[in-house]
Amino acid sequence: MDGEGAASVARSTMVPMTSTEPSVFTKIVAREIPATIVAEDDRVIAFEDIAPKAPVHVLVVPKTQAYANVGELAAADPDLLAHVVQTAQRIADERAGGQFRLVFNTGEAAGQTVFHVHAHVLAGDLQEGTLAS
Ligand code: AMP
Repeated sequence: MDGEGAASVARSTMVPMTSTEPSVFTKIVAREIPATIVAEDDRVIAFEDIAPKAPVHVLVVPKTQAYANVGELAAADPDLLAHVVQTAQRIADERAGGQFRLVFNTGEAAGQTVFHVHAHVLAGDLQEGTLAS
């Protein structure tokens, strides 16, 4: 493989996936697939995770799929990231006395499966020491 070929392979594996295909979350925003929506405004949507890992497990998702992960979102639009966090807080206030764990899986090796940035709001009787489970 020549130098440019190797560089191109490296880029294709290292650059975060961006797709023009609508993500599963964009399809939820568009009501093309069903979800139990618990909050929505012009910038974010929040809905129950389909495979809950805690008594409260809600995803807070920017409506734009321009950012694959929280690092990209923080760099490009910190106000939108703050709005994601504030929405998570409000949901936890309503459902879990304001106490919650906020998880942004970032990258495949960290368990990310949907490359449209989203926050997992986990709450309800979480125990110390369960962070990685
Ligand atoms: P992550 O592994 O951090 O990318 O999280 C993706 C999350 O999306 C997982 O917890 C899935 O259970 C959840 N998920 C995938 N498809 C749906 C769906 N159609 N409705 C609700 N949650 C979903």
